[in-house]
Amino acid sequence: PLVLGIESSCDETGVGIVRGNTLLTNAVSSSMEEHVRFGGVIPEIASRAHLDAFVPTLRQALEEAGVTLDDVDAIAVTSGPGLAGALMVGVCAAKALAVATGKPLYAINHLVAHVGVGVLDGGELPENLGALLVSGGHTEILRVGSLTSDVELLGSTIDDAAGEAYDKVARILGLGYPGGPAIDKLAREGNPKAIRFPRGLTQPKYMGSAEAPGPHRYDWSFSGLKTAVARCVEQYEAAGQEPPVADIAASFQEAVVDVITSKAVLACTEHGITNLLLGGGVAANSRLRELTAERCAAAGISLRVPPIRLCTDNGAMVAALGAQVVMAGGQPSGVEFTPDPSQPVTSIHLPAA
Ligand code: ATP
Ligand code: MG
Ligand code: FE
Repeated sequence: PLVLGIESSCDETGVGIVRGNTLLTNAVSSSMEEHVRFGGVIPEIASRAHLDAFVPTLRQALEEAGVTLDDVDAIAVTSGPGLAGALMVGVCAAKALAVATGKPLYAINHLVAHVGVGVLDGGELPENLGALLVSGGHTEILRVGSLTSDVELLGSTIDDAAGEAYDKVARILGLGYPGGPAIDKLAREGNPKAIRFPRGLTQPKYMGSAEAPGPHRYDWSFSGLKTAVARCVEQYEAAGQEPPVADIAASFQEAVVDVITSKAVLACTEHGITNLLLGGGVAANSRLRELTAERCAAAGISLRVPPIRLCTDNGAMVAALGAQVVMAGGQPSGVEFTPDPSQPVTSIHLPAA
């Protein structure tokens, strides 16, 4: 089926078009620049930006794909999780399009779409799949029994998401916003072993056993790490010294990436999962890509990492999961549903009201 996907959960306005598992186009407009001076995404500004960007982005997508709205078989839209006001713009636009064209509308989970996008690069996802989702708002390890009907949350962060930790640490180091790319770049000039920052929830007392897994066995915590970085910088400043920012960035990044990959591989191994998909905006991180590949290879897990443009928020991922739902015979969502800012990852697409 030809599916048009709409994304507006945060600061990217995305319209993507797929035919089955084939990507036709992926138009994205970001309001990131407007948030830079505030050091974080301002919801009201993001919503207004979606309103401005939606029609031009839709036109661009249709033009690039060489199709018209008439050709489209179904419309898919992110219904959550995300910023309430931002979601409302995309959902409202999608409902209007569905009413005007009479096409069926599917309300899609943004997080599962970060996984579903994998079909656009390498085709059908393997069975026995795990997904490591690392983004600005989430850090989760999932068992994906079926992309359209069976997603289980194995572990997640109990406080900050990994991307959030990057953004906060970048602020502490004076690197600006967004922090991920800046730290990634600076870390290349630093020594990742210079400072041993804490790896949250990896002490035996948190880990339970494989037979009786504790609540934290596959969970992460990044707020202690952020505090440790702040203390470290304070100590240098108190001593009247310049903090070695490159070494701190590299050591922080090593701590994040070490604990993310070790727990993801542990969860896969203990669940007999032999295929892993890495997704979400932080999957753009060079060291995360490298260490995940290394540790998966060592554990006999085959890894799939979509190209960066498909890892960061976009409409093609929504279209891709929408097409999977359509092909699996899933029911359209109608036009009565409301966006759910905290839609759980187990709710893959919303049924009709
Ligand atoms: P969610 O998907 O949880 O709703 P989101 O959609 O806001 O959150 P994404 O757009 O998927 O998140 O990812 C954005 C995050 O990725 C930001 O926190 C940013 O700092 C981080 N990021 C981007 N590039 C890199 C990089 N090279 N290294 C580390 N982090 C990065
Ligand atoms: Mg974003
Ligand atoms: Fe996202």
